[in-house]
Amino acid sequence: MKICRFNHDRVGVVHQDRVFDITSLFNLSLTWPHPPGDLIASQLPALLPEIREAFTSHPSYAVEDVHLNSPIANPGKIVGAPINYKAHIEEANADKEINAGKTYTSIDQFGLFLKAGSSAIGVDDVILKRFPDRRTDHEIELAVVIGKEASCVKREEALDYVLGYMSGLDMTIRGSEFPTFRKSVDTYTVLGPWLVTTDEIENPNCLRMSLDVNGELKQDANTNLLIFDVERLIEYASSFYTLYPGDIIMTGTPAGVGPVEVGDVISAEVEHLGRMTVKVAAWS
Ligand code: MN
Repeated sequence: MKICRFNHDRVGVVHQDRVFDITSLFNLSLTWPHPPGDLIASQLPALLPEIREAFTSHPSYAVEDVHLNSPIANPGKIVGAPINYKAHIEEANADKEINAGKTYTSIDQFGLFLKAGSSAIGVDDVILKRFPDRRTDHEIELAVVIGKEASCVKREEALDYVLGYMSGLDMTIRGSEFPTFRKSVDTYTVLGPWLVTTDEIENPNCLRMSLDVNGELKQDANTNLLIFDVERLIEYASSFYTLYPGDIIMTGTPAGVGPVEVGDVISAEVEHLGRMTVKVAAWS
């Protein structure tokens, strides 16, 4: 199923060209301290059978008439995988603006980074280029959404902890600061258009993806080129910290990264996960 968040505080099922509003199925009463994890992602796994059965009885709208937000409203963590495609490591080591004097070796030497949850936007939002004069790159990535608490998970069971997948953009300012700082700018994580549940994705490690800027193809690859595949990333991340429902793993970008400018339109898609078309505007 395709699950979206729309018009800020509504949860929907996307079916054909309609969005069915299933918000009333969730318990949204507040508690404090709030348990870790996104409220909707925490409740979604248990509700999926009921949703599947009954979503068409809920009010619906044309997809084009709603505002699609980040499918996950409150990710506790957005985990990022650096240098997870061989061809991207090569391009990064060949470009001083990307490597800022470092030599990239392997993901197990560099580990993972975190992006601020406040950087997440949806496909009907706009990327606001924060610093007009600093190189700011597009990175298309498969985004994995965690569906249940995961600590020290072995790769054989890793996919049991996944709620679904999304197309994602890990927008990145180039420079010498820590990646976590350069990649956490407001609007620099684009997710969606919706979350696709695992039953629709046979193998997350074999999904084609492509990205173009103003109609010009820039990135074209397949997750079968991942160095750490989805299972290994979950195993690796959860060996250091607990993953909670709604946590997101950005699996890394393939080769072809490059700068965007104000006025550009980015169109990107991971196979089966939906296309996003997002504008770049000036921050003010
Ligand atoms: Mn990235």
